[in-house]
Amino acid sequence: KIQVKDLHKSFGSNNVLKGIDLDIREGEVVCVIGPSGSGKSTLLRCLNKLEDITSGKVIVDGFDVTDPKVDINEVRRHVGMVFQHFNLFPHMSVAENIMLAPVELKKMNKAQARERALELLERVGLKDKADARPASLSGGQKQRVAIARALAMAPGIMLFDEATSALDPEMVGEVLQVIKELAESGMTMVLVTHEMGFAREVGDRVVFMADGVVCEQGEPEQLFGNPQQERTRDFLSKVL
Ligand code: ATP
Ligand code: MG
Repeated sequence: KIQVKDLHKSFGSNNVLKGIDLDIREGEVVCVIGPSGSGKSTLLRCLNKLEDITSGKVIVDGFDVTDPKVDINEVRRHVGMVFQHFNLFPHMSVAENIMLAPVELKKMNKAQARERALELLERVGLKDKADARPASLSGGQKQRVAIARALAMAPGIMLFDEATSALDPEMVGEVLQVIKELAESGMTMVLVTHEMGFAREVGDRVVFMADGVVCEQGEPEQLFGNPQQERTRDFLSKVL
């Protein structure tokens, strides 16, 4: 469950988020779309405290992210994030990448963490790559490893920031399939995406951001089929 109340975020004099209100219920899949620079990534980063919040309130999985006393590591244990660039550690094997957080944070011993890593690799269709180095994988395979790594701490919430936009077109489908299965498993998810077809198919709700505010939101059929705001229509006419 995620609650965002009147969230503002500025970088110097650049007011990027100008009062975001958003409630995401448990198990809901929310796709965030909008033009470049509208603040989508910044919003996502505010949800797991990768950015400090200028004002407002963000409560994620019971943690008040705005409370200066909140334990950042504890928040990030509950909120997994997958980026456009996979950020795998090149000097470690695939399995070691996935084992890193559970072992470092002393949630599991190495044997347990490896077992968990193998389970997760099976889930993303890469069990045979456990001992490979990231450099030997395709982009789609790397991103599936990154998803497995984000799942290693069994987060209640997953955030995806354009997880497929750095991939060659033929790799996009395999990654979307993994994300889709995760969505169907009941995971609470927020996905920033340029894949409008995917947002329409998988999202319970689509949020259209423009200029640092939520301009319009609704069920996919509504938002794509019958957008109410001129700004939304204009954006959709360019991307659909
Ligand atoms: P895109 O679709 O291109 O990824 P976006 O909607 O994700 O765009 P953001 O990355 O959130 O947009 O950026 C919104 C604004 O915030 C931009 O003007 C950007 O320059 C600014 N910004 C983002 N991160 C920082 C930062 N670390 N320091 C300064 N300004 C930043
Ligand atoms: Mg972005």
